[in-house]
Amino acid sequence: MFKINDNYLKLPGSYLFSTVAKKAAAFTAANPDKKVIKLSIGDVTQPLAPAIIDALHKSVDEMAHAETFRGYAPDLGYEFLRSTIAENDYKSRGCDISADEIFVSDGAKSDSGNIGDIFSVDNKIAVCDPVYPVYVDTNAMSGRTGDYLADQQKWSNVIYMPCTEATDFAPELPKETPDIIYLCFPNNPTGSTITKSQLQEWVDYANKVGAVIIYDAAYEAYISEDDVPHSIYECEGARTCAIELRSFSKNAGFTGLRLGFTVIPRDLKSGETTLHSLWARRHGTKFNGAPYIVQRAGEAVYSEAGKNQTKEQIAYYMKNAKVIKEGLKEAGYSVSGGVNAPYIWLKTPDNMSSWDFFDYLLEKANVLGTPGSGFGPSGEGYFRLTAFGSYENTVEAIERIKRM
Ligand code: PLP
Repeated sequence: MFKINDNYLKLPGSYLFSTVAKKAAAFTAANPDKKVIKLSIGDVTQPLAPAIIDALHKSVDEMAHAETFRGYAPDLGYEFLRSTIAENDYKSRGCDISADEIFVSDGAKSDSGNIGDIFSVDNKIAVCDPVYPVYVDTNAMSGRTGDYLADQQKWSNVIYMPCTEATDFAPELPKETPDIIYLCFPNNPTGSTITKSQLQEWVDYANKVGAVIIYDAAYEAYISEDDVPHSIYECEGARTCAIELRSFSKNAGFTGLRLGFTVIPRDLKSGETTLHSLWARRHGTKFNGAPYIVQRAGEAVYSEAGKNQTKEQIAYYMKNAKVIKEGLKEAGYSVSGGVNAPYIWLKTPDNMSSWDFFDYLLEKANVLGTPGSGFGPSGEGYFRLTAFGSYENTVEAIERIKRM
């Protein structure tokens, strides 16, 4: 009789987003005349920029002719995209990353989940708390996290690094030494960032203890402040300790198209073995390439027109972020994030629990958000709002919150 991977049975279930959806549906059913505004959206809402649409049309037409038709893409991505990424995201920022250290994929969610394949199950992971849930759940599926302690909402074999008001929502170096450290800046859910010198400390630490940093820079395009690094490779020594994950989802609206990439420098080794060679083997065996037309669309993001148009979209979302942040401050809330990220992290008033505030906000303002406790124990008492809605809805939602 076959046996299943019973690590899956230990998973607590995706309580957060299914409960948000259930509660929202129940409210709408009971109050059909009320317009609920979703500031809980983690997805973009602006249509694809014209430069991207043009590249899609052009490459679709190429597929109709034998001379320009493309079948399987190269395992690691088309050279035209990898060299464009190397030039624009790395060389132009002074980062020493070459095109053949870039692995094109269908997005950062799958890469952040799959990267665990190349590490031993004995490795100990450290994550920020609150955290993007994929990092922990995928390690749990591999059996790397121990047992789930429901009363604490924690796994027994994970190092949680609390990101609290006291540290400006940045993690501190852990007391116990991890093997794999997940960092995500700008951060989902808190919207926080760290400076280049703070990130340098992490790189120095990882090199000292022999840990690898998995650096998720999916929100890099939202950075507006000068001392916030766009890539971990801006730090000295990162080539020997860091993997970087990037996505086209939030900078260019590819959540439905699907495109991302992972950078693994050739200097990142365990003994004589490069992680680059392991990921190349994994990628080539289990992934059959992002579609040609999507890779051409990705290339167009870096064209002059593509850069200008996607910048405008980000500015649109960040205008919403400002409306949310300033409005909440005026209403007396304690708020952070929203400057280098499309996420606003607020402290619930009067020590309300995250879920009590969720109900209160839905009931009184008919606004949906996401309870912070769903992202980890240190998220309790916090709440996430996002800037991905329309400007009009965002303004209306904040007016309603002010009137609560
Ligand atoms: N990483 C973080 C921190 C995210 O918040 C998200 C999506 O919300 C992703 C990765 C997923 O990116 P992709 O759409 O490229 O899979």
